[in-house]
Amino acid sequence: MQIWERLRDPATGRKLAGRVRELAARVCDRLGRRLVFMEVCGTHTMAISRSGIRSLLRDYLELRSGPGCPVCVTDQADIDRMIALARLEGVVVGTFGDMLRVPGSSSSLERERALGAQVKIFYSPAEAVAWAAANPSQQMVFLGVGFETTAPGVALSIKEAEQKGISNYSVYVSHKLIPPALKALLADPENRLDGFLLPGHVSTIIGRRAYLFLEEYGMPAVIAGFEPNEILDAVRELLEMLLEGKAEVRNAYSHVVREEGNLRAQKLLSEVFTVCDVPWRGFGCIPQSGLRLREELAAFDAARRFELPPVESRVPPGCACGEILKGKLTPKDCPLFARACHPTHPVGPCMVSSEGACAAYYRYEREV
Ligand code: SF4
Repeated sequence: MQIWERLRDPATGRKLAGRVRELAARVCDRLGRRLVFMEVCGTHTMAISRSGIRSLLRDYLELRSGPGCPVCVTDQADIDRMIALARLEGVVVGTFGDMLRVPGSSSSLERERALGAQVKIFYSPAEAVAWAAANPSQQMVFLGVGFETTAPGVALSIKEAEQKGISNYSVYVSHKLIPPALKALLADPENRLDGFLLPGHVSTIIGRRAYLFLEEYGMPAVIAGFEPNEILDAVRELLEMLLEGKAEVRNAYSHVVREEGNLRAQKLLSEVFTVCDVPWRGFGCIPQSGLRLREELAAFDAARRFELPPVESRVPPGCACGEILKGKLTPKDCPLFARACHPTHPVGPCMVSSEGACAAYYRYEREV
């Protein structure tokens, strides 16, 4: 059987599920309580909800979503500044589609577009820089949102703009790094996590090595792929470590993720960005958790190129996204879930994004 067939094979999945439940029962029995694992990545949240893995394991362990949805962790003030950029005369904002409907304090990019602002959806930053080259009379500002996975594409677009002299292209940089967020979670004494399912896509860039600090915290962690069988296999590894009293960082996605990650992408990131402290929704400022443009590329920084009015940001009243991103609550704990907040009327970003926990629960786990 080819690897991809095995990953999707229902018989393998059933066998794995049985093994995982058996191991989970043993660990729970030993600890005298249910376990809590966090799936850090929003794509895992969607895959877990869609496949029914969360309910399959519910008797023994809870899988909680974490801070791995890029749109969701973007601070409200950043959303408001992006909206302020869209309101500027002569500015065209380029963005991935997920950002469009995220509610800011008083508007959204979608609403601004309906009111006449120029907001364009691109599938890659390369398209945005090409658009800027073709429309030199207008200022293209691309919204750089995402983790280590999307930042290299943005870095490349800035290099291209610099090399080709495309001076009407800039980026509003709001990129974030996953390892410092994990540190912030572990530094919180209220968190009761027993293990991490680590993100597959981010790990392709940073490699297993970037997570070794987790071993010092005594936190078992496994890099997981996105097929249901891969997720179950990673959960199995976490449970086996708990049974053996081990706290290692393991790679259950080794057909894609290398020990050292993608060195070319890492080099590109360090050529274009430096690491800085940035605010995350729900967390506040996390040290060394974000990227900003290097001084020599400051001309491509939209936050410096344009004078933005001060924003008075407020988190949507009643929205629990911040606590959900920290794994302290689940979407169903939010009193607005599926009542005042639903996909056609999202109150917070976790209901908008295709990787948001609230969107995943609404779509697949509302009745479970
Ligand atoms: Fe926020 Fe809506 Fe999720 Fe509640 S259900 S946390 S209001 S996005």
